Amino acid sequence: MKRLFFVLSAILLLLAFSACEQKESAAGPQTTRAEPTTSAEPTATVGGYMVTANEGQRKNEYPYVLQTENSVWYLASADLDLMGEEAFYAGLEDILQYMEADMADARKALTGRIPEDIPPVEIRTDFSDQDDDAERYGAKYNQPFNLIKLFHGWQTVKRSLLHEYVHYLTFSCAGKKTPYGFYGEAVAEYVSMIVCENRMCRSDQFGFADDLEQIESLRAWGVWDEEKDNLDYRKYVLCESDAFARGLYDDLIYVSVGQNVCTRTVGKRLPARVNDLSYGETVSLALYLIETYGEETFLDRWDLPGDQVAAAFLNRQGPSARKMAGLNGLSESELLTAWAAWNVEQCARLGIGMDQP
Ligand SMILES: [Zn+2]
Repeated sequence: MKRLFFVLSAILLLLAFSACEQKESAAGPQTTRAEPTTSAEPTATVGGYMVTANEGQRKNEYPYVLQTENSVWYLASADLDLMGEEAFYAGLEDILQYMEADMADARKALTGRIPEDIPPVEIRTDFSDQDDDAERYGAKYNQPFNLIKLFHGWQTVKRSLLHEYVHYLTFSCAGKKTPYGFYGEAVAEYVSMIVCENRMCRSDQFGFADDLEQIESLRAWGVWDEEKDNLDYRKYVLCESDAFARGLYDDLIYVSVGQNVCTRTVGKRLPARVNDLSYGETVSLALYLIETYGEETFLDRWDLPGDQVAAAFLNRQGPSARKMAGLNGLSESELLTAWAAWNVEQCARLGIGMDQP
């Protein structure tokens, strides 16, 4: 089933693109808060918001600014040249019709874990992919500079923006912050893709809107929600994890949530560390932990580094429960083995799975 294999591989790469990493961008601006200096005169109106001339920093590179309640957008001149003004603003307007409600949902999902007053997030477009990070990512929350940078184009923005906004909330705004790697990515994906409606992402059917052939494949694997005519993201991550476990992705090179370049082989279909999981597997593991220990416990521990996750959760079970579950040590591989068995059960119960190779 090579065709199906490559189809889902393409999705994997797309998901990996929404990663963030700590590396500071040399090209990044020196700023910590989105406080634009703009002229009073609007140059255009997009989605009901004014576009004004940037009179502040890097105004040659970003000549225009658009401010909403929750964001300050710096619009790159290179992107307006690349797309043409009409297409650029049409794409921006499309995003803006969903963005505020999506961001409000994310903040609501994190009530009690982030401050009530969240400053607007700074967002910069780079659809010309001038930043080195564009090679690896679809979008990136840059923590040292406290801004989100968007690459490639508006379709990628729809897939990535809410994920990056959750990073902004949990890496920067929260008192107790998520670390890089497993927990940072698990929380960003869980909140943006499972808890939130994520209108931006769903409006484009997770990037599949124009690809009926791929939708047919996803339907055949049991991960397409017929009623909503959209991807069922929860089922999708179970399917992706199942495909890894069954060897359908052997030798595929992917970037893990720990930002490691990883691959699986016949004798090593489960990684040894949670930080070596793919993005989809990370969400599946998060769902397992939430189902087993509760969402509150899962989110309460979001400051744990990857190498402490297994011990923290396995220790929670008493000795008898651990014995019944066949757990004897406190290793990451134990946790991953228990999760993998759960994932198999879920796929069998829900009728999810790609065909055997
Ligand atoms: Zn991320």
